[in-house]
This record gives sequence, C-alpha cells and structure tokens, in this order.
Amino acid sequence: MSSFNVSDTGYYGNFGGAYIPEMLFPNVEELRSNYLEIITSEDFQNQFEQLLETYVGRPTPLYYADRLSKKYGTKIYLKREDLCHTGAHKVNNTIGQILLAKKLGKEKIIAETGAGQHGVATATVCALMGMECIGYMREVDMGRQRPNVERMKILGADVKAATSGSKTLKDATNEAMRHWINNPDDTHYIIGSVVGPHPYPDMVARFQSVISKEIKHQLSRVENSDSPDYVIACVGGGSNAAGAFYHFLDDDNVKLIAAEAAGHGIETGKSAATTFIGKSGVLHGSKTLLMQTKDGQVVEPHSISAGLDYPGIGPLHAHLFDSKRALFYAITDEEAMIAGVELSKLEGIIPAIESAHALAVLDKIKFDQNDIVVLNLSGRGDKDLETYIKWGKY
Ligand SMILES: *Cc1c(COP(=O)(O)O)cnc(C)c1O
Repeated sequence: MSSFNVSDTGYYGNFGGAYIPEMLFPNVEELRSNYLEIITSEDFQNQFEQLLETYVGRPTPLYYADRLSKKYGTKIYLKREDLCHTGAHKVNNTIGQILLAKKLGKEKIIAETGAGQHGVATATVCALMGMECIGYMREVDMGRQRPNVERMKILGADVKAATSGSKTLKDATNEAMRHWINNPDDTHYIIGSVVGPHPYPDMVARFQSVISKEIKHQLSRVENSDSPDYVIACVGGGSNAAGAFYHFLDDDNVKLIAAEAAGHGIETGKSAATTFIGKSGVLHGSKTLLMQTKDGQVVEPHSISAGLDYPGIGPLHAHLFDSKRALFYAITDEEAMIAGVELSKLEGIIPAIESAHALAVLDKIKFDQNDIVVLNLSGRGDKDLETYIKWGKY
C-alpha cells in the first residue's frame, strides 16, 4: 500500500479524517463501514463498468495533440474527459455513488452544488436510476447559474435555495447536511469532489481512478511505456486530478502537476490558490489546506472558472503538496483564458475554463522533446461560452 493511499483512519499524511457533528456520525459510519466491500465487489464493478461504457461513453479517447505538441516542443496527449456524457468527468463519480446508494437501500439523493455542474451530474444519474433528487444551491448562485438550475429541473430534480445562515459559501453544504441528519435511513448525500469527511475523498478518488487506468492502457498501445513523464490536471476540490494521478501516485518517474486558480493574482485577495495562501484547518468535514483569515474564517475564493472557485482542496492534494509529490502552479484568469483560446485554435477543441488552467501550465514548464505529457482535459467549454464572450479576446 502506498503512503498516498488513505489510512485506515481516513488520513493522507497530516490531512483527512472525519470532523463532523455527532448527529452525522451514524450516516458517515454506515458509509465508511460498507463502501469498500460494496464498490470492490464483482457485481458492483460490472454494473459500474457497464454504465461507464454504455451511458457515459468510456473509455474516453487519449488524443495526441499534434499542433499543440509542436508549439510546446514536446509530446502532448489530451485525456478527453470533455467527451463524457454531460461534458465533464463529474459523472464518473455520480454514477459510482448512486450505484452505491442503491446497494445501501437508499431511495433519495441529496447534493449541494455551487456552480451547478455537480448538481447536473447528480440530477442526471437520479433520472437514470429513477431516484428522487434534491439539490441545494445558494440563492446567489441560483441567479447566476440559471442554465444549470433549469437543466436540473428538466432532469426532474428539486432545486432548493439555501437561504438560512449568513449566506456564506458554506450554506448549501450546511442545508444538505441538515437534511441528511433528519433523513438518515432513506437518503444518500452525493459529494462532488475528493472533499468531505472520510470515506468521501477515497471513495470519489476510486471512482475517478478510471481516468488513469485508461491512460495507462491507452498509452501502452502508442508509446513504449504505460507511464508518462508528466500528468497535468486542474484542481478545484481535486477529483479530476485525483483520477488522473491515481495509478501513478507510486511511480516516482511520473511528475504530477496540479493547476490551481490564481484568479486576479495570488497577492490580490481574489484567488482560489489554496496551496499558495492557504493554511491547515477544517473544511467540510476534513482537515486540509484552506484559505482563511488569521482567526480561522473561511475566505471567499475567486476564480473566473466556477469549478475552481473553492476555498480548499481535498486532503489527498494537501498531502501531495505537503510531501512535494505533486508540484502546484497558480494560473491567473487571464492566463487560463489565453490557453483556452489557444487550444480552440490549434486543435479545434474549446475547453472548459477549469481545464484551461491545466493547459496554461504548458507555458511554465521546460519540457524535453521526448517527454510524454498527459493533460487531463476535464470538461468542455460549452457551459463557459458567456465567459469567453465577455472576455472577448479571440
Ligand atoms: C467541477 C469541475 C472541475 C473541478 O473539480 P475537481 O473536483 O477539482 O475536478 C474541473 N473541471 C471541470 C470541467 C469541472 O466541471
């Protein structure tokens, strides 16, 4: 077992654990004591793989980006998670969790969603499985993420505005938690990234690990080796990066590169560059790195991409940073937008602005011409059209 796998008590080095109110303990404990046995069973694996293939459209291609490679003087492969059903990697996890919820005998699903991408991925699989879905969202986000709210509703979900509390970013999570405490028997809470109390980070990483499993297989057919020199991914909470890194965590020859959102710049107070300005603390049920004031108040993050606009990172990534196993780069809004337009013009692929943060790293590393670089293209840019238009420089 690698030191980058979660420990029995739910830790990655100094980070992780389950810091939850006592009233939530039975729910989380039910999950913790059952998840491994269920998700590693042959029956579960068969159903999961079948849906990934026939519903999500996996395996996603590993595409050799020839013009992009020429531009950066190295060999760049794009792992095309943007081609997943619903347009991003998030559905890999929601499929896994809803199958698990079924096995646990649950009938309802709750989720909280900021930008709405996770809400859409959750509402999608609830429709697929005929399960009731309640999505909690901050009132402000319901306004600015209107298309995703309507998508969720079309898919049959009940979208609830989190209005209580201080209207901070934690409200939607708190409302979902409250619902779960009151309905422990029939409800499963689907978390959308490698965050939250143990076992969520490990569970989500395992569902997303299909990404690196496929990369190894696909690379071995076109190169002499099944391990690249670099794997690059963007990090919001960290689930697409966790999936892309997973089967390479123990392979020191593979450099793991994470791109965080520097927003207007890490010194400006308007960023989401957690590893650069964050400190150790407890966020959403786990000990991790988060952006906070001196007295421990969570700092409101900023990123041009909704999916990276999160004040923390998952505990696995906090450990990868702490142990220097992964290298972190902070990419500004402007750098990401330039990289997004560059990929569009060089390869005919308009990336999600989250993924464009990973692309912007290409300009910051001195690659050898024989290096094999795999970049995880986490999502497609359709949802970001308004942002591209507003930015306007293309
Ligand atoms: C949500 C999202 C992300 C960020 O989430 P992670 O858990 O860090 O992967 C990245 N890219 C896209 C396209 C997303 O929708």
